[in-house]
Amino acid sequence: MMTPVEGHATYKFRCPECNWSQIIATAAAPPANQCSWCGWTEIAPIKIGAFASFNCDKHGLVTCIVEDEGISSDDFMDLFCPHCND
Ligand SMILES: [Zn+2]
Ligand SMILES: [Zn+2]
Repeated sequence: MMTPVEGHATYKFRCPECNWSQIIATAAAPPANQCSWCGWTEIAPIKIGAFASFNCDKHGLVTCIVEDEGISSDDFMDLFCPHCND
């Protein structure tokens, strides 16, 4: 099953306050500017890769994050559900 998707930037940071390393994947949003866990604002997010989400009829919301630096949001084509090999 292939689903049309739209790619978006993914951001990563380690919060110096709560110390969780986090990857933020929000469609059509600006870069992260505070920790989602504790609200600390002195974070330094870096853009890592890109992601796309889609709904699979069988598995619900699926998010594919491509970590490679070379990926751009525009590179995404239709995606196969990675859980549906039938
Ligand atoms: Zn935090
Ligand atoms: Zn599926």
